[in-house]
This record gives sequence, structure tokens and C-alpha cells, in this order.
Amino acid sequence: MSVKFRKIKSLTFRIFISTFFVGTLVYLVCAFLFVSHMYKYFEKQIFDELEAEISLIEFIAQDYENKQIDDFKNIQTENRITLISSNGKVLYDNVANVQTLENHSSRKEFIEAKEKGATTLSRYSSTMTKKTLYAAKLLDNGNVLRISCDQSSVVSLVFEMGSLLLIMLVVAILLSFTVAKFISKKILEPLNFIDFENPDDTKVYDELKPFIKRIQEENFEKSQREELRQQFSANVSHELKTPLTSISGFAEILKTGETDKKTTVDFATTIFDESQRMISLVNDIIKLSKLDEKSISLEKEFLSLREIANDVAQVLSASAKKKQVLIDISGSSKNIFGVRPVIYEMVYNLVDNAIKYNKEAGVVSIKIFESSFAKSQDKVSNFVTLSVTDTGIGIPQHEQERIFERFYRVDKSRSKDLGGTGLGLSIVKHAARYHDATIKLESQEGKGSTFTVMFVV
Ligand code: ADP
Repeated sequence: MSVKFRKIKSLTFRIFISTFFVGTLVYLVCAFLFVSHMYKYFEKQIFDELEAEISLIEFIAQDYENKQIDDFKNIQTENRITLISSNGKVLYDNVANVQTLENHSSRKEFIEAKEKGATTLSRYSSTMTKKTLYAAKLLDNGNVLRISCDQSSVVSLVFEMGSLLLIMLVVAILLSFTVAKFISKKILEPLNFIDFENPDDTKVYDELKPFIKRIQEENFEKSQREELRQQFSANVSHELKTPLTSISGFAEILKTGETDKKTTVDFATTIFDESQRMISLVNDIIKLSKLDEKSISLEKEFLSLREIANDVAQVLSASAKKKQVLIDISGSSKNIFGVRPVIYEMVYNLVDNAIKYNKEAGVVSIKIFESSFAKSQDKVSNFVTLSVTDTGIGIPQHEQERIFERFYRVDKSRSKDLGGTGLGLSIVKHAARYHDATIKLESQEGKGSTFTVMFVV
């Protein structure tokens, strides 16, 4: 038997995706924190540097009116130095031509320096790829000295780090894959050593215990089913062998041609009866095996239990009459949804038993009614119930469980005399299960029995 598994993604793949995802996430968060921290740190360093430089050249700028430009030119620096007069006019700039520069009175660093005496601030270029840091100071003579320098923006920093990020991505993929392979191997290792026959002896993950338990239960059910099947085959063989042996025995005597007329008729009658029994037995076995094969879906329809009970009573009226048993049918209900031949068979077997195991001139009463049961405040279950009550021999308490088993009979010879196969109640049980109905039995020895079948509607 080949087992078909539904295809799902491999464990390695799943772990790979998870580790990769988590790894990448952690990496991105750390990278973000690191870069932003470093960026702020460097920015502060630059501001400190700019402020230090302002203090150094402040005195030169203070004296600008007297010494003019020369002293400024001697200053060795990579930063941009701008001297702005108190009205915003640029007096000196070591990078751009003063003539071309616009009035700086609206620049933020100029305004802030005039207000507060000194300031530091930064500004992005329009493309966001470059950032300029400014330090500005108001001099005693009313001019503003500004020193600035460029810093790469975070965006351009990330772009510059592009290749590094790419390498890290490849490393993350490779690392995640290796880790995933290792972890999945480690996870799966103990699974290969589970002994499903004796799962208790194996060390397994706690999370797997329910799974192991289910397998264990399934194994147990399987072996029980197998045992039942074997038992059933043995019983069937035995049940068939007995009538066949007697048929063969009587036929053997008959074929000598030496029996008188009366014996011949007696033997022929026995052969007929035994073969009838075999036919009923085979018919019951066929019915049972049909109900057993859950895969076969029988056609369901809406059925009236009252109508079925009437039909059954009609068919069994002759055997009831023979025993002077009265069949009384009462009540009615809404229709149930079921398979007609199966429900018919169920009612037939119950009523047939109620007649067979009744006393002379007894009563069989069939009742059909509806009932409901409140499971909780807003959950109500509705039932259609069929009960078959007889005034017969009853069933001893300790036998009541077992009579639904195949071939189980309280009194074997009595059942045989009545043409029973021992399969009737088994068919009733299977038919009820097929329709999700429940069976209840109440019986008292010598007084009679009531079989109740409840259908959920
Ligand atoms: P059988 O073919 O022997 O009637 P069933 O499966 O229908 O087989 O019933 C099993 C046994 O249960 C019967 O042999 C009988 O002993 C007992 N039984 C079934 N129905 C009744 C009943 N209404 N009253 C008393 N005994 C019953």
C-alpha cells in the first residue's frame, strides 16, 4: 500500500525562511541603530571642530576692517569661512566670489547667531545627498562669522555602503541556509527513532506527544478492527458450515434412494430449512458489509418513520398472527433524512425480534415521536424517536451490551429455531451509526424490552 502525502514546503526551507527573515530583521535594526548613532556622533564631532575653529579665527575676523583680507587668506583650513556684515552682505568667503553671493540676512544661521550670539545647525542640499553643517558667531563689531563644511547625508552613506550591504545579504543567506539545514537535521533526528509500536519507550519532544498518542490509538483501533474481522470470518465460516454439514449429510442418505416416503419428505424439509437459513445468513452478511464500507455513499432522502413502520407491520403481520401478537403503531413525526432500505431493515429487525421473542398473545407497540433537548441556553437539539416495545422474554442485564455484537445470541438454540442469524441487531447498530442515531435498550427479564432509536433532526 502506498501512502500519499500532501506536499508541503520542506522543513529546511521553512527554517531557512524564518532564520533568514529574523536574521535580516535583526541586522537591519542593528544597522539602522548603528548608522544613526555613528552619524549623530560624527555630526557632533564636526560641530565641535567648527566651533573650535571659530574661536581660533574670531580675533582675525574681529580685526577684518583694519587688516582686510590678507590674514584670512593665511588661514589653513578645509572648511568654508564666510564673514557676513550685520546687514547680511558677505564681506569675505574663502570658496566663492563675494560679488556673486546674495545677501545672507535671511539665512537661518545668520538670524540665529544675531539673536543668540552663536549657533550651530545643519541643512540638506536640495538633492538630499549632501548635508552642510554650519557654526556661526556674532562678533563684537556686529559682523557674523560663519564656518561650514559638508557631510555625506544618510542616504548617500547608505548608497556608498551598497556593496557592503550586498555582501552582508549574501552572508545572511548562506548563514541562514547552513543554520536551517543544521537545525532541521537536529529536529528530525529523534523522529527517525520513534518506535510506533512502543512509543512510550522513545524519547520525544513534548509537542509531539499528542501526535504519537494519536498514532498509538489508531494502531490500537486498527488491530482491534483486524481482530474483529478475523473473528467475524471465523464466525461466518462456522455459521455456514453447520447447515451445510447437515444438508450434505441428509442429501447423502437421500441419494442412496433407500429412504421411505415420509423420511424423504422430512429430510427434504430439513434441507430446505437449512438452505433457507443459509440464504438469510448470506443476505445479512451482504447487508452488513455494505454498511461497513463507509466509502459507499447510499442515496439519502426524506423518509416518514410512520410509513416505514406501517410497511414493516404489514410484511410481518403473518408471523405476528401465528403467535397472536398484536402490533400497535402510534404517533408521528417530521421526516428524517436517511437511506430507505437501511432504515427499513433497521425497523424490520427490531419489530421482527419483538415478535420472535414475545410471548404468545403478546403486544408489540411501535411509537414515533419528536423531542428536544436544550444543550445550553441557545443550543437546542431536536430528535425524532422510534421505540419498539414488546411484552416478551426480556434480556438479562449482563447480556444487554453484547447482543449488538455479530452472531451474539442469548439463547442460541432458541434463536436458531426462530430462524435467527445473530446478525439482526448488528445491522440495527450499524444502520443507526450510519445515520448518526443513538440506540438505547431497556429490558427486564420476563417482562419485555424497549429498543429506542433517536435521530437528530
Ligand atoms: P437473532 O437473529 O438471533 O434474533 P439479533 O442480532 O437480532 O439476532 O439478536 C441477538 C440476540 O438478542 C437474540 O438472539 C436474542 O437473544 C436477543 N434479542 C434481540 N431482540 C430481543 C427482544 N426483543 N427480546 C428478547 N431478546 C432479544
